[in-house]
Amino acid sequence: MKRFFAWLMLCLMLCGCAAEPPAAVPADSTGLTVHYLDVGQADCILLQCDGANMLIDGGNVEDSDLVVAYLLDQNVSYLDYVVNTHAHEDHVGGLPGVLAVFETGNVWCPVKEYSSKCFGDFLYYADQQNLDLVCPEPGSTYDLGGAAVTVLGPVRDDYDTNNSSIVLRVDYGQTSFLFTGDAETQAEADILDAGYDVSATVLKVGHHGSETSTGYRWLRAVAPAYAVIQVGTGNSYGHPHESTMSRLRDAEAEVYHTDLQGHIVCRSDGQTVTFTTQKQTAETNPTAEPQQFIGNVNSRKFHLPTCSGLPQEKNQVVFESYAAAEEAGYAPCSRCLP
Ligand SMILES: [Zn+2]
Ligand SMILES: [Zn+2]
Repeated sequence: MKRFFAWLMLCLMLCGCAAEPPAAVPADSTGLTVHYLDVGQADCILLQCDGANMLIDGGNVEDSDLVVAYLLDQNVSYLDYVVNTHAHEDHVGGLPGVLAVFETGNVWCPVKEYSSKCFGDFLYYADQQNLDLVCPEPGSTYDLGGAAVTVLGPVRDDYDTNNSSIVLRVDYGQTSFLFTGDAETQAEADILDAGYDVSATVLKVGHHGSETSTGYRWLRAVAPAYAVIQVGTGNSYGHPHESTMSRLRDAEAEVYHTDLQGHIVCRSDGQTVTFTTQKQTAETNPTAEPQQFIGNVNSRKFHLPTCSGLPQEKNQVVFESYAAAEEAGYAPCSRCLP
């Protein structure tokens, strides 16, 4: 019996040792910033940690100038990694322009050829820097400053283009981020079946919120506190799909959308994450007071309540929204520019 107890204690101790120690951020690390750029119906994400930079996708071809300007604005001069999750234009389109401007260390892509003009341009500018396209091995881990980037997918090489997306998990201290490209439920299931830890604080929702991505099994395993959807206003695909939104509600994830909030920036100190968005609207910030507008019944102009040119009170009419003022046939004041 005594021997059994000793055995049990030894087992418990060994198990204790084998358990993952709580992740710590290196003492000199200054934080991880993840920028989800508003590039319409497309993906583009910049990660910055301790002076190291990774760009995941580059938006459409016409987003190239915006992406380059954004990177310059963030003082990027060198990209340690440029990742093209998959060869579709809304992911690779802006990358040739990026490679033409920024010296780059590594280029990751699941394929080495794809028949489109923009993919050809991507190859051309990678080649100009003597860079080979590499598909990183699932399970391999890379440093990005004090953050660790783990490759989770693609786990197979016979996928269609969306499922071929490179899927990355980035750990920083106790916070983690999942980047999925346009991976659909097939790729999600294969990653789960391969046994990878996919739990994450922040999930980049796959394929712009398409109903064919972000399945229940995936969401249960990821259990994100926050989800970010990169999607264009009024896109013809109906993204994000209502069924995806419903699954995200069931998962109790707080959802950010680039179509409503513009660029979304998430900062991690290794313990907690904080979000800032380019646009704060009543729609996206339910705690904000609804914006009212004051119309002038004589001039038929409408103003911000703070405008210096408001009419006398007896000539005022209050509108509960911009749309209501326009609908009533009022024009915006040229002084306060509501
Ligand atoms: Zn896409
Ligand atoms: Zn795609």
